[in-house]
Amino acid sequence: MSRKSPADIAAGCIRCGFCLDACPTFKLTANEAESPRGRIYLMRHVLDAGRPMDAAALTHLDNCLGCRACEAVCPSGVQYGLLIEGFRARIEEEGLRPSAEAGARGMLLDTLTDRGRLGASLAGLSMVAGILRKAPAMPGLFARLLTGGQSHEAAVPLSGTGRSGGHLPAFTAAVGRARCTVCLLDGCVMSVLFANVNRATAELLSHCGCNVVCPHSAGCCGALDAHAGRRERARQRARALVDALECADYDVLVTNSAGCGSTLREYGELLADDDRYAARAAALGARTRDISEFLVELGVEPPTGRLDVTVAYHDACHLAHAQRITSPPRALLRSIAGLALVPLAESDLCCGSAGTYNVTHPETAAALLERKVANIIASGASVVAAGNPGCIAWMREGLARAGSTIRVTHTVELLAEAYRRGASQAEA
Ligand code: SF4
Ligand code: SF4
Repeated sequence: MSRKSPADIAAGCIRCGFCLDACPTFKLTANEAESPRGRIYLMRHVLDAGRPMDAAALTHLDNCLGCRACEAVCPSGVQYGLLIEGFRARIEEEGLRPSAEAGARGMLLDTLTDRGRLGASLAGLSMVAGILRKAPAMPGLFARLLTGGQSHEAAVPLSGTGRSGGHLPAFTAAVGRARCTVCLLDGCVMSVLFANVNRATAELLSHCGCNVVCPHSAGCCGALDAHAGRRERARQRARALVDALECADYDVLVTNSAGCGSTLREYGELLADDDRYAARAAALGARTRDISEFLVELGVEPPTGRLDVTVAYHDACHLAHAQRITSPPRALLRSIAGLALVPLAESDLCCGSAGTYNVTHPETAAALLERKVANIIASGASVVAAGNPGCIAWMREGLARAGSTIRVTHTVELLAEAYRRGASQAEA
C-alpha cells in the first residue's frame, strides 16, 4: 500500500466536526482555529494553495498539544498525528521561529533526551532548588522537577523506591520457567527520573515468567524529538536504536512509557524513505508492546497480594489515542485484590504535560492541569495510576500545588507491589 502524502491525509477531512469536543484546546477556547478541523484547514492552505505559513497559523499549530484525541474519534480516519508532526518538522527545517526561541527549545530537548546531560543538569541545579522553591511562578521544567521534591513527598510510590537514576541490569532472569525473553527499554527520562518505575517493570516481568534483557547501548528512541518537529534528530536516534537492538536476542520489545511506545510503533513511517532502515524499523515497530498490553496478551496470573486502595486511572494520550490502549491497564488494576478502581471524569483528556508543551505553553498546560486535578479530587481516589512519565510528573505537580495528598504512580508500580506482597506472604 502506498503512503499517503500530507495533502492526501488532509484532504480526508470531511469537516464533520466530530473531533471538536475531543480537542483540549477547543474545549478551553471554543475557537475554531484552535480545533483539529481548523488546524487542518490552515494546513490545507499551505499544502494545497502553496501559501507560506504566517505567524497566526504557526501559533495555532504550535498551540496543538499533539495529543491525538482528534485522531481517535475521527470517522474519516484522518491521521492527524502524522500531519502535525510533519508540519512541526517543516517549522523547524524552514527556521520559522525566532532564533532565541528555537535555540532554547533545542537546548531543552538536547538535555531531556541525553541521560548524562539530564542527570548532570539536575545534580547541578539541585543546589539552587531552595531558591527556585521561593519562586513558584518561575517557568521551566527544571524548576518544576527540582521543586517537585514537595510533590514527591506527597506522592511516594507504593513500592517505596526513590527517584535515583541508573541503568537496569543487562539481564534479569525469569522467576521459574521462562515463557519468553523481553527487551525492556530503560529510556532517557525514564532512566534518570523514573528509575524506580523501570526497576518495578523488570521485577514485574521477571515475576510473570519473562527473562528481561536491557541493552545498555540502546539510547533515546527519539520520541520527544519527533513530537517536537526535530525529525532528522528523531531519525538518527531511530537508526541508532534499530542497530543497537538488532544485537540483542529477544521476542518482544516492551516499554513503560506511552510516548516512547507510540513513536517506536511508528518507526516504519519515520524511516519509510530510508532504503537501509525502512523494513528493519517497521519490524522493530511491529515487535513493540506497551507493558500493560503485553502482560494481558501473555496472560498472567493475578497477583495474590492485596492492596487496599482506591485508584483512578488516567489515560495518557499516547497510550489511549495514539496506541488505542485503554482496557489492558484497567484490567490489570482490577486484577489486584482489594483495589477499587473508580471512574475518573475526562480520563482521556490531556493533562497538559504533552512532552515539552508544559514548558513552551505554561498557561494552557496549567489550565488543563487544573481541570485534571479537579476531576481527580472529585473521583474520591487516593491514588492515580498512569502509563506515561510526563503525565505522572505533571499530575504530581498539580496535586501538590492544590495541597492534595493523592499519590500518582505508574500502573506497574501498583502491580509490582501486589506481586511482591503475594510473594512475601507465600514465603512467610
Ligand atoms: S473528525 Fe476527522 S473528518 Fe471530521 S472534522 Fe475532525 S478531522 Fe475532519
Ligand atoms: S492533537 Fe489534540 S490538541 Fe491537537 S488538534 Fe488534535 S485533539 Fe486538538
